[in-house]
Amino acid sequence: MSEILDDLMEEGIREYNLCSACRFCIGYCPVWDALDRIFFGFKKESVDHRDIEYFAYLCHDCRNCYYACPYRQPHELNINIPKLNSMLREKVNNSYVWPGFMRGMLKRQYMYMTSSIMAFLALAFVLTAIVGDLSALMLPIHSIYHVMPSIYIEMIGSVLGVWGMTLLIYEGARYWKSINGNYKGIFNGRLHLYALRDTFMHLWFRANGEGCDYPGEYGSFSRFYLHLLMFTGMLVDLVATITALYAQNILGYYPPYSLFSFPVMLGIMGGALILVGVVGLLVLKESANSKLIESAWIETDRAMLYLLLAIVVSGFVITSMRSMPFAGLMFLVHISLVATLFVSAPYSKLVHIIYRYLAVVKYYYDKRILSAV
Ligand code: SF4
Ligand code: SF4
Repeated sequence: MSEILDDLMEEGIREYNLCSACRFCIGYCPVWDALDRIFFGFKKESVDHRDIEYFAYLCHDCRNCYYACPYRQPHELNINIPKLNSMLREKVNNSYVWPGFMRGMLKRQYMYMTSSIMAFLALAFVLTAIVGDLSALMLPIHSIYHVMPSIYIEMIGSVLGVWGMTLLIYEGARYWKSINGNYKGIFNGRLHLYALRDTFMHLWFRANGEGCDYPGEYGSFSRFYLHLLMFTGMLVDLVATITALYAQNILGYYPPYSLFSFPVMLGIMGGALILVGVVGLLVLKESANSKLIESAWIETDRAMLYLLLAIVVSGFVITSMRSMPFAGLMFLVHISLVATLFVSAPYSKLVHIIYRYLAVVKYYYDKRILSAV
């Protein structure tokens, strides 16, 4: 049974049942395909709580169905699917967050992230005083490892990364059980291949080739390209980090690496892609129609973009400040920001990665079940 039982769910059932009678939006996105499947494939007479939760994240917020709808305000039926789904996403996030007392953090992102950055910065100072060299913070440094030995950075980074990832997977598993009723299908490799393909290609950000009605009422691919840049930048930076770890731990080739080395070049390239993507998305959000999104979700969204921006900018500052005074201090700021990203993963906008991905897996799972019948 779904954990989300309230008026919002009832409103979701009302709107989607009306949509199932109208069916005008079929073809805009997979939500409409999935809705049709519920009635004509699974022969249900109404959508239920599970379907509503599933649609919440299957929706990629292209907003085409809102501008196409003759039943939106001022019509008395007042259909607003993008807003409904954004409110439902917030409910989903709150329902599956673990531990439960962290729920409040989803609503206070700026406070949570600022406190986390401060706490990690204080911890970094203490650790530097114990195992590193505090005086190296103000002086030109040859290597960041003069500030803090690499073993501590790697150890803390690994623990926080594994913690964030584990909780994300746990929250995702709870979401899957809720939308699917059981854990069947979640380990099906073929379904994951389809979902990974769609995710990497940003297939559903294109709104079926028409572009999203985002930020305004016209088909645009801006959001698709900007999100793709940010996503690609993150992957490139991940490869840069793995390359640096390989050079250091396997080849014994320690930093500082030259500007033209593989890890640094990749790091700069990834950072530049993220920078363009994040700034572009922030600008787009300024002109987007705020009537189509839950207000709490706007802060959650922006907070994560600002955090990514701060990480990239501090990374660039370190790269350009090499061998200059205060580079060590900037390094502590940078790793505190990255640590905040890791611990924020299960309590921030980043949860959409796992929920949206699993909604896509579910889309293929249902499709497979019906074609097997
Ligand atoms: S959003 Fe409006 S136009 Fe689209 S299916 Fe629903 S009722 Fe019909
Ligand atoms: S906003 Fe776009 S993605 Fe979401 S349900 Fe409507 S058409 Fe589908």
